[in-house]
Amino acid sequence: ALMITDECINCDVCEPECPNEAISQGDEIYQIDPNKCTECVGHYDTPQCQEVCPVDCITKNPEKAEDKDQLWAKYEKLTGNK
Ligand code: SF4
Ligand code: SF4
Repeated sequence: ALMITDECINCDVCEPECPNEAISQGDEIYQIDPNKCTECVGHYDTPQCQEVCPVDCITKNPEKAEDKDQLWAKYEKLTGNK
């Protein structure tokens, strides 16, 4: 999963781009639900939130490091697609 660092400027550009609705506005900055973020695996070739973030504050979540197989499995679980 990816995560948003405290450099986030709350611009709201990323939230509508997420195919998994993993992004929401938190108390101080935007946040990514690691249980919903597939790093866009299953939907796009590249993480859409990272593509649009104007300050590049979205990075890998070190506490939720996953390989492609794990991200695919999460995608299948979230969508019911096999
Ligand atoms: Fe959503 Fe993709 Fe960003 Fe994860 S990488 S939060 S799935 S847009
Ligand atoms: Fe924050 Fe970047 Fe999302 Fe804007 S696009 S709300 S700066 S994480």
